[in-house]
Amino acid sequence: MSVAPLAALLRESQPCVVLTGAGVSTESGIPDFRSASGIWADVDPFEVASIHAFLSNPERVWSFYRARIHSLLAAEPNAAHHALAELERRGLVCAVVTQNIDTLHTRAGSREIVEVHGSIRTAVCRGCGTEETLEGVLAQLDERPAPICSACGAILKPGVVLFGELLPAGAMERATELARGAELMLVVGSSLEVWPVAGLPLEARALAIVNRGPTALDDRALLKVDAPAGETLIAVVEALD
Ligand code: NAD
Repeated sequence: MSVAPLAALLRESQPCVVLTGAGVSTESGIPDFRSASGIWADVDPFEVASIHAFLSNPERVWSFYRARIHSLLAAEPNAAHHALAELERRGLVCAVVTQNIDTLHTRAGSREIVEVHGSIRTAVCRGCGTEETLEGVLAQLDERPAPICSACGAILKPGVVLFGELLPAGAMERATELARGAELMLVVGSSLEVWPVAGLPLEARALAIVNRGPTALDDRALLKVDAPAGETLIAVVEALD
């Protein structure tokens, strides 16, 4: 696999904004969304990860998220996360927009991150807006089936976008602004099937994709690398040395 064209494109097309999806974290042992071994292979997302489920049975939703949070915290950033953080340090990536809730970009050292689907780092009260830290949420979950708001006593909602919820307006605005200002959007590990995030690459001047398998925007990309994200991005960093 030659990554020289991707490295050259990255050098020539600045600013570059990266958009990542579940595929950037599979090499950390976190299953993606649509594969046969994916998260929803055995469990119906509508029953455990939708706003409808949260409103009708928040304890069930928290039982799912408690296990999910612990498995995400046990995962480590992989070569792809580290390579993206290194590209930002070198001034070749100005921001990472991610659909992932796992916080692995932060843990790898990326600094400019927009989490368009929220993250596990907080839980929020839908009544009064109070936020609770991850540490506080986990401490409460050791005591009771669902964490409650310290201000008003309502049951907190995980700080992730549940099915049926709108995306956080501020994060989407920031992501759109970044995409519009980008000379290049580099998509890593996303099937680009989940809207509105899948529309972001169309706002940038040019698109490059690193993804195993097809994406919805392959025919719009200047360059597509169909290979694992970790080895590809490490090779790009080395090619830029
Ligand atoms: P997706 O599952 O639709 O697409 C992931 C893509 O990555 C697939 O095309 C897959 O073939 C590819 N892929 C898998 N492993 C790869 C690798 N090692 N290298 C390169 N490509 C690889 O995921 P999506 O587009 O992110 O959309 C799914 C939604 O589910 C997102 O909204 C996201 O919020 C959520 N999700 C998040 C996590 C997480 O936080 N880690 C995990 C699963 C799902």
